Amino acid sequence: MKLPWGMVGGGEGSQIGPLHRIATGMDGTFALVAGALDADPVAARRFARELGIAADRAYGDWREMLRGEVRRPGRVELVTVATPNRTHFEIVKAFLEAGIHVLCEKPLTLVPEEARALEAIRAGSGLVGAVNFGYSGYPMIREARAMIASGELGRIRVVVCEFAHGHHADKADAENPRVRWRYDPAEVGVSAVCSDAGSHALHLACFATGQQIEAVSADFVSCIDSRDLEDDALVAFRMSDGAVGRLWSSAVAVGRQHGLALQVFGERGGLAWCQERPEQLRWTPLNHRTRIIERGEPALSREARRGSRIAIGHPEGLPGAFANIYSDIREAIVARKRGQETPVDCLFPSFADGAHLVAAIHAAAESARDGGAWKHLP
Ligand code: NAD
Repeated sequence: MKLPWGMVGGGEGSQIGPLHRIATGMDGTFALVAGALDADPVAARRFARELGIAADRAYGDWREMLRGEVRRPGRVELVTVATPNRTHFEIVKAFLEAGIHVLCEKPLTLVPEEARALEAIRAGSGLVGAVNFGYSGYPMIREARAMIASGELGRIRVVVCEFAHGHHADKADAENPRVRWRYDPAEVGVSAVCSDAGSHALHLACFATGQQIEAVSADFVSCIDSRDLEDDALVAFRMSDGAVGRLWSSAVAVGRQHGLALQVFGERGGLAWCQERPEQLRWTPLNHRTRIIERGEPALSREARRGSRIAIGHPEGLPGAFANIYSDIREAIVARKRGQETPVDCLFPSFADGAHLVAAIHAAAESARDGGAWKHLP
């Protein structure tokens, strides 16, 4: 049975809203029954009605939604927050305090203290708190994680990750309001591209290896002079089990379309994956030829198989990855209703992961300001 679900943000024309709605539809995990979908109350109500939400649950803003839902029988069990970054903290906090599970878009908050505060509230309440590092829902990323966890690569030596695209490279477009806010510290905090794009790559590095980031040394550059924040970033990092990490993140890499990629090099072999060919994982055992592992193969790990729906060779794409995050969240909510722990199979990125990434980005920004000096995460 679908669980009742609400969205804040993700209105008409938004970048990420449609993907959430497609993803919940793919596996029938959640039914969209309430929403405060737009910053403009009139547009919010109209678009909610167009999506089939009942008039009395098509809210004009999130506070009205909270008041309307909190005492209602059959109220929303999960709220997705897909608003601009600076609004996440107060919206997420309010829904958590009302006892409602939350999936928040990344970054969880603008500053580490707020991210830690949200995780403390979540932990105290026992609610599900997830952050949409949605690429970790790809089956072949989960396969990489399973291979590394089983020791197939041996000790992990080096992790190289990238999220470098070219979509903010045009100087003439820098003042376009749809681009400008992404480089405005009031909107996004201490980092632009490293937080917006690079955090996804760092999350994959942590998710796949099972290691955390312990220290960073960064070089941030604004290639377009009018920008206060970086549009290109290089971050060296050290991980908790000894892996050495490298991240390149850019918004001025003309010719690159998406540009998210992960490579993991261990003592016994190397793995490579990129988002533009998400169905394949390249595996090179030491002293052997490269093999291509395909989503849908029968011999995949349980983690990868449970995240696949359609036959090998038929691309599932990003909505399928998001759908896996939603399936995991749904299972975790159902387990709580039964008085059980979150099943080990539920691999959705948690608030603790979200807080870790906010801390890593802050440390990187601090390092960049300090000429690349190494900064340790708290
Ligand atoms: P966007 O500007 O395209 O859309 C934002 C939507 O939120 C709009 O519909 C806007 O009207 C609405 N909104 C703004 N303030 C609101 C408020 N107070 N209450 C209700 N609705 C409000 O932005 P976007 O690119 O969709 O980004 C939204 C969030 O999603 C950001 O945090 C961004 O970092 C994140 N994002 C994540 C991914 C991913 O891969 N996980 C990709 C893109 C964006």
